[in-house]
This record gives sequence, structure tokens and C-alpha cells, in this order.
Amino acid sequence: MRIALIAHDDMKDDLVEFAQRHADRLGNADLIATGTTGGRLNEETDLEVERMASGPYGGDMMIGAEVAKDDCDVVFFLRDPLEAQPHEPDVMALLRICDVHDIPLATNLTSAHAILDSLAE
Ligand code: PGA
Repeated sequence: MRIALIAHDDMKDDLVEFAQRHADRLGNADLIATGTTGGRLNEETDLEVERMASGPYGGDMMIGAEVAKDDCDVVFFLRDPLEAQPHEPDVMALLRICDVHDIPLATNLTSAHAILDSLAE
């Protein structure tokens, strides 16, 4: 199982807390993340996360490429619905490629919990 973790700036605290809370379950998977998100997860949790480029510098596209290669099974992407992002086209491309490949994708905490619970079954 290979899981991608991404959070826009105002959502990073939530994702770090989610990862700390579910470290036992997430720790069983290979984890990848965009650059800044991955840096925070490596520093603030016991998880080991492979870091891609930062989102605005292509990290979302790098994770999208993993999805396209069938090398990513789940995407947790806490995006900020209240702030415009300079890399909005990349964000949309990542959402789209998850749909193309029918990959579970959570864009808010409630759906992240639901997907995590479904993985445990
Ligand atoms: P970041 O990228 O983890 O490098 O901040 C996330 C994003 O903005 O997509």
C-alpha cells in the first residue's frame, strides 16, 4: 500500500494531527508527500515520508504521475477551499487523474477518516 499525503498551508496542522493520531495505521504503508507537507510529517510524527517537490513547484504533478503509474493506492489531500492556489491547474490535474484511475481520494478530514477506516476492513 502506498499512500500520498498533501495539505495546503492552512490545512497542514490538520493533516499533521491526522497523521499523528493514525500513525499506527499509516505507518504500515509506504508514504509519499509533497515537499513542505512531507517535511512537517517527518519532523512532527514518527512516520517516514518520501518527499516530492513542493506543491507549487510540481509536487502535485509528481504525485499525479505516481497515480498514473498505478504506484499510489490512496490520496489524502487536504486542500484549502477558501484560498486561491497559484498551482490550481496542477491541483485539478491530480484530482482528475485520481478519478481516471479510480483511486480513493479524500479532500477533507471526514472523508480521510472514512477512507482510512475502509482500508482497515
Ligand atoms: P507543499 O505542497 O506540501 O509543498 O506545501 C502542497 C500543495 O500546495 O499542493
